[in-house]
Amino acid sequence: MSKYSPLTKQAPIAQRTTVYLDHHATTPVDPRVAEVAIRMMVEEFGNANGVENIHGEHAASAVAEARDKVARLLRAEPDDVYFTSGSTEAIQLAISHSIATHRSPLKIAVSRVEHKAVIDTALRAERLGLAVVTWIEVDEKARLDRSGYNRALQTGIDLVCVMAANNEVGTIYPIEELVREAREHGANALIDATQAVGRMPINLEELNAAYVVFSGHKIYSPKGIGALVSPIFEPASVFGLQGAHHPTPNVSGIAALGSACELMELEGEAETRRLSQLRDLLQERLLHLVPDLVVNGDEAGRLPHNLHVSAPGALNDVVLSHLRGKVSISTGSACNTGAQEPSHVLRAMRLPDARIDSCLRIGLGRTTTASDIELAAVQIAQAIHDVRTAFPEDIDV
Ligand code: PLP
Repeated sequence: MSKYSPLTKQAPIAQRTTVYLDHHATTPVDPRVAEVAIRMMVEEFGNANGVENIHGEHAASAVAEARDKVARLLRAEPDDVYFTSGSTEAIQLAISHSIATHRSPLKIAVSRVEHKAVIDTALRAERLGLAVVTWIEVDEKARLDRSGYNRALQTGIDLVCVMAANNEVGTIYPIEELVREAREHGANALIDATQAVGRMPINLEELNAAYVVFSGHKIYSPKGIGALVSPIFEPASVFGLQGAHHPTPNVSGIAALGSACELMELEGEAETRRLSQLRDLLQERLLHLVPDLVVNGDEAGRLPHNLHVSAPGALNDVVLSHLRGKVSISTGSACNTGAQEPSHVLRAMRLPDARIDSCLRIGLGRTTTASDIELAAVQIAQAIHDVRTAFPEDIDV
């Protein structure tokens, strides 16, 4: 029981009664990580920049320790770890840095299924005349078109942006090969590892990518903390002004991220095995209850905690409204205003509209149990059935 438990004694009602299966959107903070964060806020609250006293020293050593833990999980150099507010900021810094240190406009190759944090940043750079974007297509399982990738590299690309694993359908990308091919053509690589960290081995020493980004809130640390890991990043080279002054570090967030990474290092493999078994069980149950359900993505190479399905004829926003308060899942395609729009990932996969309109993204996590899975399977199948019964005209779309 946490020493700080009075602060968190009662879980909100929604958390107690609703099965949470939206771990690609965000994860609950692990209580062990929360304990670290609260201790840093309440007891070890010194300013890590003010090492003139013992409080500051403790805070500074907590930051250094966290940097070591992040580096250990990713097999990276501690000096290459830059703490950010999350993946989005890390992506923006990486692309800005790449623009600032290359000839302008930067030639960027971006896969069609990147997260909007990458796509929107690349498009903004293009609108500002700072970059020219080449798109890399994917197949119906969201796997990268390797010959298109190689053709693009031959045109003199400066930076490739590819994700380690997709945040909607969970498809895993061969980042080692992609980075190697990029380097052979003189291009740097930005790897968005937001969904992959802790779920699959990532070894930055071997990967040799220029930039790797991730967000703490996908691995059970609080929101608002993440990292850019880069052997070439220099804050001062972005606009010349960054790095002129060091802001007060978010010590509690940084220490929490370090703790979350340490737990992933210790438990990630076992968690991956457990979650992939539960995911397979859920898939089996759902296919039994909804025989015409379609599984999207690459079943031979997907994230262990991901299940992405379509139930043609059952519009997903209506299904989600039937599940409200019972099971929290998502369509996976909400844009940054939270509004739902057709998934650019499923469009890039060229799935038929009926599959796009009925897609459901399910993400399992550390607290997911077998009974959550049994319950969720029944509830999701019931919601699909109810929506199909209420709107039979949608079934033939
Ligand atoms: N990249 C991927 C693959 C993601 O899944 C997300 C968030 O869902 C992001 C980037 C952006 O992360 P954040 O919102 O934490 O900055």
